[in-house]
Amino acid sequence: MRDITSELVELVRITSTDLPKSIQEALDKARAVETEGSAAQAAMVSILENVEMSRRNQTPICQDTGTPLFFVKYGQSWEPGALKTQIRAAIAEATKRSYLRPNAVDSLHGKNTGNNLGDDNFPTIHLQEIPGDELIVDLMLKGGGCENVGRQYSLPDVGLGADRDLEGVRKVVLDAVYQAQGQGCAPGFLGVAIGGDRGSGYLVSKEALLAGLHTENPDPELAALEQRITEEANTLGIGPMGFGGKSTVLGTKIRASHRLPASFFVTISYMCWAYRHRTMTIEGTEVKYA
Ligand code: SF4
Repeated sequence: MRDITSELVELVRITSTDLPKSIQEALDKARAVETEGSAAQAAMVSILENVEMSRRNQTPICQDTGTPLFFVKYGQSWEPGALKTQIRAAIAEATKRSYLRPNAVDSLHGKNTGNNLGDDNFPTIHLQEIPGDELIVDLMLKGGGCENVGRQYSLPDVGLGADRDLEGVRKVVLDAVYQAQGQGCAPGFLGVAIGGDRGSGYLVSKEALLAGLHTENPDPELAALEQRITEEANTLGIGPMGFGGKSTVLGTKIRASHRLPASFFVTISYMCWAYRHRTMTIEGTEVKYA
């Protein structure tokens, strides 16, 4: 298999320093709806200046460059073991070039490895074989502050009056947004998984965040719920960086999985304004970044 380490380093550079256009547009809209001269608007102005400066200087958008999460779909001519080795090499190189802050810390002793390479799960690499010959690598850099405010609920939740239905899902997702206030760096984006088990719930809630902001949910009921949650979250008054205001959540993506009859989990991954996600596609000799 050919060596694509340098292409992967470029994917890390773009992801860390150049926020996708759709996210920047969402942040622009949030700035426009905030009241002139308010702390909320000032926060949005600072965020957007920072986004521009990072792009211009090729420096990380946030000091926390996050956990690198790779979602890899590989065709027949790619070898999963070699892909993993090259991804790890690319992460170490990207750290050396300061596209990433060294973030891999030994959980027991606090020692930083210095190159973002921890055990087999750091960086996190999900591999999936697909037909054909294409390679698709999605990279998400997930900040610690927003990861900390992710939540999982087991329905029914008596305290919140949330039953095992979409109304119950709505209640717990809004509770998660409410509980996150002041943390997680709003305005944010929500990836929600309904069903699965506790482990797959968190994975699917992150995969939901990989769907583009403008991708419509194929299930009309879930599409309506996504829109309703986003609108209602923006009435909570939390606002940019918790300063109050109208922009708390800029998008919600929901996916439903099968579950055991005994369980009904709702899992929420909260993504901060620094929604760093890029895709690299290789087909033949052509390499594309989006
Ligand atoms: S939550 Fe996001 S914006 Fe806030 S410090 Fe972490 S990476 Fe940066």
